[in-house]
Amino acid sequence: MYVRKLRLLTPGPTPLLPAAVRAMSAPDMHHRTKDFVDVYVNVIKDLKYLYGSDNQVALFASSGSGAMEASVSNLFSPGEKVIVCQAGKFGERWTKLAKAFGLEAIVIEEPYGSVVEPEQVEKALKENPDVKGVFVQASETSTGVAHDIEAMGKIVAKTDALFIIDAITGLGTMPLDIEGWGLDVVIGGSQKAVMIPPGLAFASVSAKAWEKEKTAKNRYFYFSLKAHAEGGLDGNSPFTPATSLMLGLGAALEFIREVGRENLIENAQLLAKASRAAAGALGLELFAKKNPASSVTAIRSPEGIDSGKIVKGFRDDFGAIIANGQGTMKGQIFRIAHLGYFDFPDLFGTFAELELILAGLGHDVTFGTGVAAVQKVYAEAAKK
Ligand SMILES: *Cc1c(COP(=O)(O)O)cnc(C)c1O
Repeated sequence: MYVRKLRLLTPGPTPLLPAAVRAMSAPDMHHRTKDFVDVYVNVIKDLKYLYGSDNQVALFASSGSGAMEASVSNLFSPGEKVIVCQAGKFGERWTKLAKAFGLEAIVIEEPYGSVVEPEQVEKALKENPDVKGVFVQASETSTGVAHDIEAMGKIVAKTDALFIIDAITGLGTMPLDIEGWGLDVVIGGSQKAVMIPPGLAFASVSAKAWEKEKTAKNRYFYFSLKAHAEGGLDGNSPFTPATSLMLGLGAALEFIREVGRENLIENAQLLAKASRAAAGALGLELFAKKNPASSVTAIRSPEGIDSGKIVKGFRDDFGAIIANGQGTMKGQIFRIAHLGYFDFPDLFGTFAELELILAGLGHDVTFGTGVAAVQKVYAEAAKK
């Protein structure tokens, strides 16, 4: 076709909120002026609303991994034992970070598409009473699987260990009761459900974690949780903040307040439910063996079709960017995102496109089957 609209449909970066784009194009703003200090203070206040907790928040000018690194380097000492729940590419990142900072990592590894069960964490904690921290992904974006954060949190809370959650695609897509479940560090990133470009990372840090921070001995300079959390208290960052991104974040968080934190989560959950229904209706298999995530739905490519061809079809035929599998999952799966600024019309389009692409690749498809499944979920939800 002659006109193709570029659509970014990946689980990070995600589609940008127009109000955030407008806010980011504001004229020059110096970070030590009152105007910007107000922006900073409001962003932290609204991040606490998004987190649903009054715990202090540290905001970094970095991608999400910067806050992951800070939680390792600031809270643990070399030689300390930690448990890493590893069931995907991002779980592997925790293992690499733990090793990079000299921690002794006990890795509970599950194959891609599976979850680490809370009972496995409980057992590892019993066998290793000297463990100082447990690391996990709330939503493992590489496989489209969610972990049972509530059950794990309640287990870890009974011990001295800190519970550190990479919630970069969990925040805004699944409930995370920071205080009720004992979540010590909860990490988010700007290019996921908060609908702005990459470049900001944030972490909510509990009193238990700050206590441990006082005695932790590792090396870091820029990535100080304490310096960045303190900067947020009075709106004076320790280093030059990413001013334009923070203007965008302010606008996006205002939008999230209007929509409501719970409704933003329900939006993702409904789109996830519809994606699973559509995949099923098209005879496609989900990659998640259990606990499919609300952030992204990972679908196995039909037998004999490299998922790269589906990704290419989206791009070439419709100007849409969807995600392939990462690492060894490349070619095997493709991923439909629905976190942040996604709505049902996005999914109607995505599945209509997928049907056309699959038919073009020789797969047996009755047009409208997947779309109808999405419509059905919409119709049921709209009745409420
Ligand atoms: C996107 C993502 C990250 C962070 O990656 P960056 O490239 O550093 O922003 C980490 N964990 C998960 C689960 C993610 O989805």
